[in-house]
Amino acid sequence: MTTFERFPTDRDGPRDECGVFGVYAPGHDVSRLAYFALYALQHRGQESAGIATCEGGHITTLRDAGLVSQVFDEEKLRALEGDMAIGHVRYSTTGGGSWENAQPVWRDDGREVALAHNGNLTNAVELWGELKERGIAFRGTSDSEIIAALLSSHGGKLIEDAVEEVMPRLEGAYSTVVMTKHAIVAFRDPHGIRPLSLGRLGERFVVASESCAFDIIGAELMREVHPGELVSLTERGLETRQVVKGVRRSTCVFEHIYFSRPDSRMDGVVLQQARGRMGEILWREAPVDADLVISVPDSGNPAAAGFARASGLPRDDGLIKNRYVARTFIQPGQELRKHGLRLKFNPLPEIVAGQRIVVVDDSIVRGNTTRQIVGMLRKAGAREVHMRISAPPIRNPCHYGVDMSTREEMIAHGRTVEEIADELDADSLAYLSMEGVYEAIGSGPEDHCDACFSGHYPLGDPEEANGKFALEEIAVVPAS
Ligand code: SF4
Repeated sequence: MTTFERFPTDRDGPRDECGVFGVYAPGHDVSRLAYFALYALQHRGQESAGIATCEGGHITTLRDAGLVSQVFDEEKLRALEGDMAIGHVRYSTTGGGSWENAQPVWRDDGREVALAHNGNLTNAVELWGELKERGIAFRGTSDSEIIAALLSSHGGKLIEDAVEEVMPRLEGAYSTVVMTKHAIVAFRDPHGIRPLSLGRLGERFVVASESCAFDIIGAELMREVHPGELVSLTERGLETRQVVKGVRRSTCVFEHIYFSRPDSRMDGVVLQQARGRMGEILWREAPVDADLVISVPDSGNPAAAGFARASGLPRDDGLIKNRYVARTFIQPGQELRKHGLRLKFNPLPEIVAGQRIVVVDDSIVRGNTTRQIVGMLRKAGAREVHMRISAPPIRNPCHYGVDMSTREEMIAHGRTVEEIADELDADSLAYLSMEGVYEAIGSGPEDHCDACFSGHYPLGDPEEANGKFALEEIAVVPAS
């Protein structure tokens, strides 16, 4: 299938996972609040978007493939009235990118629920088999539907009681928001792998993957939802339960490096500043004789600023990004292919020609984009191109909700840093150390997952069988 093959992918790096949102606010325009919150979380997933609202005991769900601004218009938002809402933006992790896997998931196996989930269950296959045995049928192939089915079919009177019993059965990463006819309930896995924050909107409460979703709707960040905690937003206000205690915290360190927006706050730190410190430490660890620092926009900007600050080197924009390109499904054709399509970045010869350039980026996964950038800069006249990366080499896949490619596709797999530099045709290449990352965020490995860099999976290395498309494979094979 070539006609709809994507060219090029919007990013050669790790793909963001999903973003979730929930608000309980009678008297407010909850669908509009959800719309703008999702708009702020768009970087976490661009394949589909959805909002579910509840009014007078009736849940309405609207979801579709595309960006938030493509899926919703005034008319659709007006149809989504209610006292509470949840929302989701998705980049497919478990389950393919098909429409059935768009969220919020809606189910009624005894209790009507709409659910939005960010993460990846590592025991999805086992739970799916168990539910199938109980006669529960599935529409899609996502692990989020499994959580929805477990909660929907649970006999407990309160959704909070259902969550309390279901949570210990779930393994892996799950920052989840569920809506019933009476409540919004949000819960985070006991390791706190994916982010989830709690905010206040006047007298009411909101939850979201990142605090940037609160800023846009005028809500205030209160705190993060604790790992293993359940928060319930109802007419009574805010109630919380610590469902699972005493488990090692393993927050995703990559959220600090790249995934989350730089204006979001995590562990009390605004990420723009933490990333700036990563750039400063990168200079300390890997200085280089050069004339000019440039970034790979936009995600490399904060670290490039830090690198320039610490080195005293001038910084300029040597690569201009087309900000209006998300994804194109149109093939470039032979003529443009020959020309070397500069769809996403355009180098400025007037800035880079004759210069020894340091290019700062946040990560390299497969290396295709980096190789292209080095080539473009050389063609634009750069005398030397030195790559500096504000994260360690990525050598392992993520099992907790981020699409990172397979080990074999990763440029750092089985290569030394010198060999990677050769592959990229860079004059030099250096990565920030893991210690440098932790110094920048003011924390340590004891509280984080850094498995894609270190290979140490905090929950153990899950079987390949529970990989990205495990449920799809099972779903098409008839049970024997
Ligand atoms: S493996 Fe990497 S991306 Fe996945 S949760 Fe751990 S640190 Fe984050």
